[in-house]
This record gives sequence, C-alpha cells and structure tokens, in this order.
Amino acid sequence: MTPKRESQSQRKKHVAVCGGGLVGALNACYMAKRGFKVDLYEMRPDIRTLEVVKGRSINLALSCRGREALRRVGLEDTITKNGIPMHARMIHDLNGKRRPLLYGNEDQYIMSIDRRLLNEVMLTEVEKFPDVNIHFSHKLVSCDFNSGEAIFENEKGECLTKQFDLIIGCDGAYSSVRKQLMKLSRFDYQQEYIPHGYMELNIPPNKKNESAMEINYLHIWPRNDYMMIALPNLDKSFTTTLFMPFEIFESITSEEKLIQFFKDEFPDALPLLGEAELKQSFFSCKALPLVSIKCHPYHVNDKAVIMGDAAHAMVPFYGQGMNCGMEDCIVFDELLDKYNNNFAKVLPAYTKIRNPDAKAICDLAMYNYTEMRSKVNSRLFLVRKKLDNM
Ligand code: FAD
Repeated sequence: MTPKRESQSQRKKHVAVCGGGLVGALNACYMAKRGFKVDLYEMRPDIRTLEVVKGRSINLALSCRGREALRRVGLEDTITKNGIPMHARMIHDLNGKRRPLLYGNEDQYIMSIDRRLLNEVMLTEVEKFPDVNIHFSHKLVSCDFNSGEAIFENEKGECLTKQFDLIIGCDGAYSSVRKQLMKLSRFDYQQEYIPHGYMELNIPPNKKNESAMEINYLHIWPRNDYMMIALPNLDKSFTTTLFMPFEIFESITSEEKLIQFFKDEFPDALPLLGEAELKQSFFSCKALPLVSIKCHPYHVNDKAVIMGDAAHAMVPFYGQGMNCGMEDCIVFDELLDKYNNNFAKVLPAYTKIRNPDAKAICDLAMYNYTEMRSKVNSRLFLVRKKLDNM
C-alpha cells in the first residue's frame, strides 16, 4: 500500500525556533498556540535542571511591552506576581542623599523580574502544547534557506540534520542564524561595542533579614563617566550592576584600590555591598562587554526570520532589549493573522514594519546610556536649584 500523502495545505507547518532564551521560549508559545508543529532548539542544557545558570543579568526590568506579550499567551499574571514594582528611579548622590525620580504617574511602574524564573516559566508553558518538542543541548551549526534544512550539534558531538518550513532565529546577540543571513547578498550589518563593560555585584538583605534599601525603586548611582544600578529581588537582595569603561575596571588592580574607589564614588553603597564580599565578587569575575547591533533585512524569502537580540541587540540602559524582543513576537503573530499564515507575505512585511522601530529603540537605548549616568545628575541639579529658590 502506498502511504497516503498529505497535501501541502493539509500538512501542519513546521517551525524550528533556534534559541530557547527569553524571546525564543516566548515565540515558541506563540507558534504552538497557532497550531504549528514546533521544534525548539537550545544550545544550553535545560536550565530547570541546573543549580547555577551562567550568563547575563540576574534580574531585568519588565515593562508594558513585555507584559502585553506575556498576557497574550496567558503568562502575565504568573510572571508579575513574582515581580517587584519599581515606581521610580532612586538617585544616590555622592554625599549619600537619595532622591526619587518618578517614571510617570504614581500608578505607572516597571517590574523587577528574575530572568531565570521568567525563562523557566515560558519553557514549561511551551511544553504543554501537544505538537512541541524541545531539544536542549542542541546547537545550530548551519542552515540552508533553499532546502529548509538545519544542522544541529548535540551534547555527544553528533551532527543532526533537521527539516523545517520556517526557522526563527532567537539565538541572541551572537546569533548563528544571523551569521547565515550575513552570507547572503545585500544584507546590512552594523555592530558597536561601547567603551563600557558591566559587572554584577550583590547587596544582600541586612542583619534583620530586611531589604537594605527601599525596594520599589530602580536605584541609580550616576557618576557621569560611569554608574551603578540596583534592582530588587524577592529574596530581599539587590542585584547591583556596575557599568564602567573597561580601562577603569582594568585600573583597579588591588583590593586597596577597589575599596578606595568605592569609598570615593559609592560611599553609601559600600557598607551595603560589604567590603569582603565586594573584593571577592570583583576579583572573581571579569567585566562583560556591551554591544549594539543593527541589521537589515530580518528575513530570507519565506524560510527564515530573526528576532530579539539576534536582530537588534541593544545596550541595556533603556531596559528594553527583552521587552522589545517580546514585542517582536506580538508583531509577528499579528502579521500571521493578517496574512493567514502565508510566510511568503508575513516575512517581508515583518522586516518592513519591525526594522525601523527596532533600530529606533537601539538608538534610544544608546541615548539613555548618557541619560542614566550623567543627565539625571544635571536634571537633579535643576530640580534642586528650583527647590532652593522656592
Ligand atoms: P538571549 O537571552 O541571549 O537568548 C538566546 C538563546 O539562544 C540562549 O538561550 C542561547 O543559549 C541560545 N543560543 C545561542 N546560540 C545558539 C545556537 N547556535 N543554537 C541554539 N541555541 C543558541 N532587557 C530588558 O528588557 N530589560 C532589562 O532590564 C534588561 N537588562 C539587561 C541588563 C544587562 C546587563 C544586559 C546585558 C541585558 C539586559 N537586557 C534587558 C537585555 C536582555 O537581556 C536581552 O535583550 C534578552 O536577553 C534578549 O533575549 P533573546 O532571547 O533574544 O536572547
């Protein structure tokens, strides 16, 4: 008996999502919700089984863009009930004074969210759909946009060839899918490393096991050429991130220099960080680079599209990298509705709509790089002057 052949229209479309980070895991939920057959390939092992997850920022600011994207797949409440609202920036002056700068109205806020929790919730959600397979420890090696084939290397070092109708590259700033796009003609690509790097430190709860600072704020120590920020965590600690030019990081070569630097620049934060803990953290890790990436187009024919940091990595000063990547999922989903899942129409429309917006957010993030470390100081100066004259 000859096997019954499904016609192209009857067959479920097969989407391969490359990268199971924040954008890939969410996008897989969107694709699965549409009834596509989804295979999610993630280079790392399953983070839900790991004790420690290495990588970027421990917590992130979730804004209304990200919340809306989560709401549409029914995850907003699960995530926000584990988040901490931040209604304002709390500016820490050099003399130790603290001043709040509201983000908007009293009822407007962004939320501090645990990156790992967010990623884990989305992976667990995507697994609930019937026609979804997640392949951890599978690294994309190459893909062919004509034949619709991708090669992944698994943890045993074996190379596996997989077929797809559409591959969505959500594999981050150093995207392998984007590298394949770069081999095609007329692909524009621009990247910029800023002179600043970042290092994560920690402000633990105080001796009474209470938060060491006001929790509903994004704390900032703006010092013009560099700055430190701190976002609250549910365990009453604050993830504290120091952004500085690499040359300053590299000039701090001894424990004495480090403590003197903090005494001079962040005197109120030093006792909260703890001298011993600060020394330990500072000298046990390296400052990490920050890159901004713009490219065009985001798609190849009806076969491939890139989203999230793969398409538009940005410096983190606007707190929009993940939020923007999550919003990509909404835009793509709406276009799939509009064009009845016709990838040949959806993909070029996606590039056309999303590319200028994503480039604009990259620019805004770069602008906020000076706003946060320096301009908030001058604004404070103006506010103070105004108050003094009252
Ligand atoms: P990633 O999170 O990088 O995920 C990519 C995934 O792809 C990873 O799981 C990786 O293992 C996998 N992968 C990579 N290569 C391959 C491959 N070849 N094959 C298979 N899998 C692969 N954004 C905000 O919105 N708010 C914030 O407050 C915020 N704070 C930040 C603070 C810092 C210090 C930094 C550096 C960034 C911050 N961001 C913030 C930005 C945010 O982290 C990113 O925009 C977000 O992580 C992008 O998600 P993504 O899924 O596109 O990429």
